[in-house]
Amino acid sequence: MSYLVLARKYRPQTFADLVGQEHVTRTLTNAIALGRIAHGYLFTGTRGVGKTTVARIFAKSLNCEAAQGPTATPCGQCPSCKEIAASASPDVFEIDAASNTGVDDVRELRENVKYLPARGRYKVYIIDEVHMLSKSAFNALLKTLEEPPPHVVFIFATTEPHRIPETVLSRTQQYEFKMIGLAPIAAYLQKLMDAEGVAVPRDVLMLVARKAAGSVRDGLSYMDQVLSYGPDRPLAEIADVLGVVDRQALLDISAAVLKAEPVALLDVLQRMGAANWDVKDFLADLLEHFRNLVAVKVARQPELLIDAGQAELAALAAQVKDTALETLEHLFFLLADSEELVLRSGQPRLVLEMTLVRLAQGAKVTSLDNLVARIAEWKSGLEAGGPGPAARPFESRPLPPRPGEKPPVAPEAPAAKPAAEAGDPLADPAAALAAALLRQRPTLAKVLDGHAVKLAGERLTISLPKGYPHRSFELELEFVTGVARELFGPRVTVALEAVEGPGGANSVQDQMNARRAAQERTKTVQRETMNHPAVQWLKEIFPEAEISVKVKEPAETAEPE
Ligand SMILES: [Zn+2]
Repeated sequence: MSYLVLARKYRPQTFADLVGQEHVTRTLTNAIALGRIAHGYLFTGTRGVGKTTVARIFAKSLNCEAAQGPTATPCGQCPSCKEIAASASPDVFEIDAASNTGVDDVRELRENVKYLPARGRYKVYIIDEVHMLSKSAFNALLKTLEEPPPHVVFIFATTEPHRIPETVLSRTQQYEFKMIGLAPIAAYLQKLMDAEGVAVPRDVLMLVARKAAGSVRDGLSYMDQVLSYGPDRPLAEIADVLGVVDRQALLDISAAVLKAEPVALLDVLQRMGAANWDVKDFLADLLEHFRNLVAVKVARQPELLIDAGQAELAALAAQVKDTALETLEHLFFLLADSEELVLRSGQPRLVLEMTLVRLAQGAKVTSLDNLVARIAEWKSGLEAGGPGPAARPFESRPLPPRPGEKPPVAPEAPAAKPAAEAGDPLADPAAALAAALLRQRPTLAKVLDGHAVKLAGERLTISLPKGYPHRSFELELEFVTGVARELFGPRVTVALEAVEGPGGANSVQDQMNARRAAQERTKTVQRETMNHPAVQWLKEIFPEAEISVKVKEPAETAEPE
């Protein structure tokens, strides 16, 4: 008997079988019940989230012979349902646009569209990766979409809706498929393993669900890998097979970083066999982990922001208990800034390792302002006979809003430029964007200051110097896009362009000059800081203390207001 991979064995056959995407299936089943069948549908979303699966179930719904008309619950038993399940229906055409991009393919399709279905009620054309069609192919397709024969339904699926012409978009109903959460994927895997009668430890299921990164299909194929390797093997081995970093490893790394123990950190990396990991994935996991440390520090309900179980949330919270928010943010951005350096290096692993060592040193350095403020507070507390600084928790700042949420408006934001505020934002897109950012995210407004903003059609291009400025917008792209859409229209897309900044590193000589200048600047700032009254005062209080000054890059020191 041949072995059937999980993804094929358990391919959902009805809307009820699907994991996630309830918002899509509810709307579709309602439309079917009301008999409102459109001629064009567009399913968007990343790969493996169920677009073509839903398309196939929808095709069954339209043609199921057990019902008098389209039905939200296709029987799965009639010849039509069975043929569609076996991809053998004469009325359902699955076309991969990636390999049929030309106008000839579409012309053939248009010929074919004219004829009535062989036996079903509808002819259904499922065109996957539709954005791959050439411009002329789209134009040819458009003619059919404008006057579709009554028996034809098109279902387009794409991972890149922005590459589809407006004329086609406007003739389709659009459904956005979401990434599926960790918990639903884990629960689904559990259900399947129960059905298979295989015992898989919870840790292993969670590891697979995490590696699936929102895609059920990927989750199933990773599960296949684990089943053939042996789900009862040690977790670290399975993590190695899947090429993922297990969460405990990430916690061990951040523990070493936060305790500022570079040597312990290197031990951890070696013990975990970091040499075998894919550097890019490892870095992505690390970034997410350090972001989670920030989130658990500031959020009232971290479980809404972090895809993790209770035990892991507790471990994260315990780890950041004694660490200032500033330090965590600083560590995150150090890591984020290293990304380009790591990925462009010929020895990415070594660069990443050294980045982590630098992080472990960075954790030791708290910001001077923070230190001075806390000591002042402690001192006044002593004088007043009140409690010391330990009684006062760190002030926490809200996290950036999640996609879809309205960004919080800063209460004391400086007044925006009235010209841009009152006028039509389209008249001066740059000023309008600057004013809106100043209100909602002053740090970004500061970074944007003086750089080019162009609005062409529905595409807003922001040119920023490489490195921190570009990176900070990249990290906030979703937020910036939200702001841009409120100003310039709901379909606006934001493109970030990285340009060589002033004094940009164009040549080796330039780089050396820039580095020398930076070193000079650093020395000056260090000298000035050591002579600062606050530091002199610190020396008086702590005569034994060794005080070091770490200087951030100029752009990094920009603070809101
Ligand atoms: Zn049927």
